[in-house]
Amino acid sequence: MPADPEHIAISKSRGIAIDWKDGHHADYPLALLRDECPCATCTGAHGTPPQRSNYQEAAPPAASPFQMYKPALRINSVEPIGNYAIRIYWNDNHSTGIYTWEFLRELAGKLSKG
Ligand SMILES: [Zn+2]
Repeated sequence: MPADPEHIAISKSRGIAIDWKDGHHADYPLALLRDECPCATCTGAHGTPPQRSNYQEAAPPAASPFQMYKPALRINSVEPIGNYAIRIYWNDNHSTGIYTWEFLRELAGKLSKG
């Protein structure tokens, strides 16, 4: 398949970089991957409309002095699913997202469009 990754580099604090077999390179920042989590909960498959931030962090609510204590988003671990996908375990205890190569490749297309 042309849409297979040649090499995957995982940085638990920064994100994932993939070199695709066709020579395309894509960097996926953590926030993007978390935002675009393809699981049913995050995509609103059970009724609620999906919340897409278009890769931009919403401005934090002005008031809360506790905001700063929220731990930064991190990947705890990444598990290969067969030879077609990866599952990402986030430090916010979310781990139901299965990121297929196809999905990631599509995401790469969105990235390069800016
Ligand atoms: Zn999710």
